[in-house]
Amino acid sequence: MTNKTLPGPNTKSMIERDHKVISPSYPRGYPFAMDHGKGTEVWDVDGNRFLDFMGGIAVVATGHSHPQVVKAIQDQAEKFIHISSDFYHENWIRLGEKLSEIAPFKEDALSFMTNSGTEAVEAAIKLARYHTKRSNFIGFTGAFHGRTMGAVTFTASKAKYHSGFYPLMNGVTHAPFPNPYRPVLERRKGEDYGQAVVRYIEEEIIAQILPAKEVAGVLVETIQGEGGYIVPPEGFYPALRKFCDKHGILLILDEVQSGMGRTGKWWAIEHFGVEPDIITSAKGIASGMPLGACIARKSVMDWEIGAHGNTYGGNPISCAASLATIELIEKQYLKNAKEVGEYAMDALQEIQARHPSIGDVRGKGLMIGVEFVKDHETKEPAKKLTDRVVDLAFERGLLTLSCGQSVIRIAPPLSISKSEVDEGLSMFEDALTQAEKEMK
Ligand code: PLP
Repeated sequence: MTNKTLPGPNTKSMIERDHKVISPSYPRGYPFAMDHGKGTEVWDVDGNRFLDFMGGIAVVATGHSHPQVVKAIQDQAEKFIHISSDFYHENWIRLGEKLSEIAPFKEDALSFMTNSGTEAVEAAIKLARYHTKRSNFIGFTGAFHGRTMGAVTFTASKAKYHSGFYPLMNGVTHAPFPNPYRPVLERRKGEDYGQAVVRYIEEEIIAQILPAKEVAGVLVETIQGEGGYIVPPEGFYPALRKFCDKHGILLILDEVQSGMGRTGKWWAIEHFGVEPDIITSAKGIASGMPLGACIARKSVMDWEIGAHGNTYGGNPISCAASLATIELIEKQYLKNAKEVGEYAMDALQEIQARHPSIGDVRGKGLMIGVEFVKDHETKEPAKKLTDRVVDLAFERGLLTLSCGQSVIRIAPPLSISKSEVDEGLSMFEDALTQAEKEMK
C-alpha cells in the first residue's frame, strides 16, 4: 500500500524532464517512475511500494531482477557484450537449441533472433513470402503485432496505430478475430464460433476477394493480447490448421505475449493441440532484456545466406538472460503460472459475482482479462470505469494495465505467489468498488 499522494515530488520532477526530451508518442498510463524492483514488488522514486500485475506488459517473466538472471547478465557482460551476428558464440547457439527443444513442432526448429517483438513479426512475414513465393496474408481484427511497417499493417486494435502512416504494407486482409464474448458473425448449427470464423475466411475472403494461391500466411495471436486478452473457442485452431493445409498457406502464430510459459504451457497453442509453421516470441523470453525470435519449422526456414539479418541478433547478454529465464520457467514457473493462474481466475470469478460491472473473466494461466460493461445484456464497454479502476488501483499500490476497449489485463511475473495475488486482488476489488460508486 502507498501512503503518500501520487505522484510524489521526485516522480513529478522526472516527468517534467522526460517531457522535454522523450518522444511524446509513448502512451503513458499513470505517473509511475521506477526506482527498483524485486520479484512482483516495485518501488517508485519516492519510495512507494507497488505490486506489479502487468510485469512490464507481460515481459518480466521471472519477476523483477531475478538473481539468476542478473548473474547471467553480469557474467556475460564481463566476458563480452557484443560480437556481430556475422560470427558465432556459445549462448546464442545454446538458446537456439533450447528454442528448438520447446518449439511446438515435431519437426526441428530454426530461430532467427531479433531485438523486439515487432522485428520477430517482420522476420515471419518476410520468411513466409520467401518460402511460399506468395505475397498476401490474412490477419485479424483487434490484433496487435507491433509498430514497424509490416507488423503495424496487421495491427488492428486501434485505428490510431495506422493514422498518419499510410501507405502501409500491401497485401493484408483482415478477418474478424473469434471473440466468443462479442461475436460478429452468425454460427451455423453444430459449429463453434471459431469454426464459423474459419468458414467466413473460406467463403467470404478466399472465395470472393483473395485467391488462396496468392496467400502466403495467416498471422494470428494465439490468445489476443492488446485487443482484450481474448481466448478463441476450441474449434478455431484445428479448423484454421485444416484451412491452411488445404491451401498450402503457412500458419504463423504470434506468441510474443502469450508464449514463454505465461499460460501455464510454453506456448498458448499447446492448449489447442495444433502445430503452427512459424511462431514469434519476445517479451518474456529474456525477462526484460531486448530479445525476440522468429522460430520456424526447419523445412520452412529455407532462406539463403544474406536474405535476412541484423546487427544485434543473438546479442550475448540477451541470450544469457534468456537461457537463465528459460531454465527458471522450466524448473518452477511453468507450474506456478498454471497453479497460481487458476487460483487468480477463481478469485476473480468470485469478485465478478459481487460486481455487476464485470461482464467477463477469461484467460489461461497468468494471462487473464477482466472485461467491464455498462450492462450485461447490451455489453456496452464501460471505458470510463475501466480507466478509473486502473487509476484507483495505482493509488492503492497496484500496477495494472488496460487493453481492448474496457479490459484490465492481469499479467504479473510468472513467479507471483498466491499471497501476492490475494494482496493485489484485494486492492483491485477496493478500487473497483470505489469506481462503481463514483460512476453511479
Ligand atoms: N506481438 C504481440 C502479440 C505483442 O503483444 C507485441 C507488443 O505488445 C508485439 C508483437 C510487439 O512487440 P515489441 O513491442 O517488442 O515490438
